[in-house]
Amino acid sequence: MSKDYYQILGIDKKASKDEVKKAFRKLAHKLHPDKKGGDIEKFKEVNEAYTVLSDDQKRSQYDMYGQSFAGANSGAGGFGGFQGNWEDIARQAGFSAQGGPASGWDFSGFANNRGGFSAEGFDFGDIFGDIFGNSQRTKTKRGRDISIDIELPFEEAIFGVERNVLLNKISICNICNGTGGKKGTEMKSCETCNGKGKIRELKKTIFGSIEMTRVCSVCAGEGKIPKEKCDFCDGLGILKKEEEVKIKIPAGIDNGEMIRLSGAGEAVKGGAPGDLYIKIHVKTHRVFHKEGNDLVMNLDVKLSDALLGTKIDIHTLEGLSTLNIPEGVNTGDILQIKGKGVPKYGSGGRGDILVHIRVALPKRLSKSARESIQKLKEEGL
Ligand SMILES: [Zn+2]
Ligand SMILES: [Zn+2]
Repeated sequence: MSKDYYQILGIDKKASKDEVKKAFRKLAHKLHPDKKGGDIEKFKEVNEAYTVLSDDQKRSQYDMYGQSFAGANSGAGGFGGFQGNWEDIARQAGFSAQGGPASGWDFSGFANNRGGFSAEGFDFGDIFGDIFGNSQRTKTKRGRDISIDIELPFEEAIFGVERNVLLNKISICNICNGTGGKKGTEMKSCETCNGKGKIRELKKTIFGSIEMTRVCSVCAGEGKIPKEKCDFCDGLGILKKEEEVKIKIPAGIDNGEMIRLSGAGEAVKGGAPGDLYIKIHVKTHRVFHKEGNDLVMNLDVKLSDALLGTKIDIHTLEGLSTLNIPEGVNTGDILQIKGKGVPKYGSGGRGDILVHIRVALPKRLSKSARESIQKLKEEGL
């Protein structure tokens, strides 16, 4: 894995510390996953780049050993496989969004930054927006989306197919059904939030004391937790496991098309699961290509067959079909085999096979053939 951290932040190799910070802040603000148009993967990359380039020692190491610098993930938290939700991002940034009221937010460094809101390089724009707007907006948690690629033989894309795919993903624990509790255990009030599901904190900042409300991460906002934990998922209600997902690929799907399976992505406690995106790659066929609902092919016809007409057996996608070649057929003519094309979505009908004719002229003529053609010439043909 080699990454150009300078390129990720869009800065010059000689960029000053200030320029690194500025570039990071701008990108982090733009790509923040809680924002419309945010991008968790890019946000992750930008964070990783900043972790390295904002640290003198790591940066000089990176400059020396090039793009394959391996220590990028050794910082607080690490960046491997984190969930697309606020708490995890907060943890990545090196401070805690979990635990009791005592843990709180770390606003150190805030006063040092003109304009932007940043503590330890993390963008606080959203949080402050909440505070100043005095809104108690509860962020809806959502599991991560997954995207996979499926390659299909041409025929399967034409007629549709069902595929079972094994995904290793975070799923709801099927022992406790996501409750996190042992079977039959009673529920008790969550001690962390006193059963309210939310935690209010009074924070001292340079603006004075402000009150913040956030969803309790222990009970995921439920206010209740099971008395005894589920052994299988250690009380988390979710766990990483292999799960088979059935994917129905509709007839007539095109190369490059995307199928979305709503809710088939990763699960998250106290929120909706993400989606599964399947990108379809259709293998090319040695004879046919698709044009709308029609299957198109080329057919070489001998000169004598073109002049006299004949019948030719065509290998369609479902066995042989006899094609009538009328006498006098010419290069560029298109013949049809009705109803053997692509199934039409919804209507039950089908497109046709379109046969593009190419008359193959002989490269050389035998003596008797030459005499015959000579006869044609005398007849004015
Ligand atoms: Zn469980
Ligand atoms: Zn709680």
